[in-house]
Amino acid sequence: MTTDAVIDVDKRTNGNAPATSAVHNPYGSAPGSGVTLPPGYQPTPSVKNKNNYFPQSEPLGPDEMRIIFMGSQPWPPRQTQAGTCIMVELGNGKRFFFDFGPGCLRNIIANQVPVPEINDIFLTHLHLDHYADIPYLWQFAPFNGRWKPLRIHGPSSSRPELGTRAMVDHMAQMGLWTSIQAQGMPLHDGYEFEVNEFDFRDDGGVCYDKDGVVITHWRRSHAADGASAYRLDWNGLSFVWTGDGKPDNLTAHYAKGVDVFVTEMAVDIVRLWALKQGVSPFMGAFTVDNFHTTHYAFGYLANLVQPRLAMATTSLSTANW
Ligand SMILES: [Zn+2]
Repeated sequence: MTTDAVIDVDKRTNGNAPATSAVHNPYGSAPGSGVTLPPGYQPTPSVKNKNNYFPQSEPLGPDEMRIIFMGSQPWPPRQTQAGTCIMVELGNGKRFFFDFGPGCLRNIIANQVPVPEINDIFLTHLHLDHYADIPYLWQFAPFNGRWKPLRIHGPSSSRPELGTRAMVDHMAQMGLWTSIQAQGMPLHDGYEFEVNEFDFRDDGGVCYDKDGVVITHWRRSHAADGASAYRLDWNGLSFVWTGDGKPDNLTAHYAKGVDVFVTEMAVDIVRLWALKQGVSPFMGAFTVDNFHTTHYAFGYLANLVQPRLAMATTSLSTANW
């Protein structure tokens, strides 16, 4: 088990789909399709239940949505928990990644996701604990067969230099030493970007509408202009990831009645942060008060949203305790 949580969502129950058949190709899957499993691989029946997930052992039904937490925490890093990243798989074959924090890529690959299919990344904001693995993916995915641009969706800001496009432009500059090696080769297309920078002020606006999948966004109060939340709707199922931020009326409005509601939560243990991590008590209290959702505010907000399932990631770490 390499991920924090796996959720299967369908309209009937939250149950799992039937077991898959064995892999028959003795040479494994096609190039670029991820780590292969040995022929005949099946999970042990006695442990095959909702608390265990074996990649590729539970095919997703055509009307189902699967949500896997590839990471769920910020600074400082933990040995066994990656930075925030939530993968949403749909029964129509589409995958979406919400944030892409440090360490998430190893979990995505361990979950047998083919590298060329790690694409369509939606960023809530530009704190690095939410996107630090993007340059790592960008530099090496073309080697594994993704000869198409990397698609990144994210908000603008009140100043152009604070928007998603500016971040991507600078990342491309940072990685030039690598990408220039591929000039003149077909795989160089894999070093291109398709940036979908939407107007962060357009609350409720649609930033993705394709194949029956509609993703909307709205503003969050977090650190600087541009922080945004997302809601994905498909086939009568829905998912919300708010990213970081204070509890707010926009989220209560746009997330209302969603199936799976995920937001962040900061337990205000300022004194412990000071003792264990050297965080100044003033900085700890200032950060919680101005940028995040306390545990009691999480409960209040979830009660307003009334989802089928409410979940919280860690927005201020209790690492190493
Ligand atoms: Zn943040």
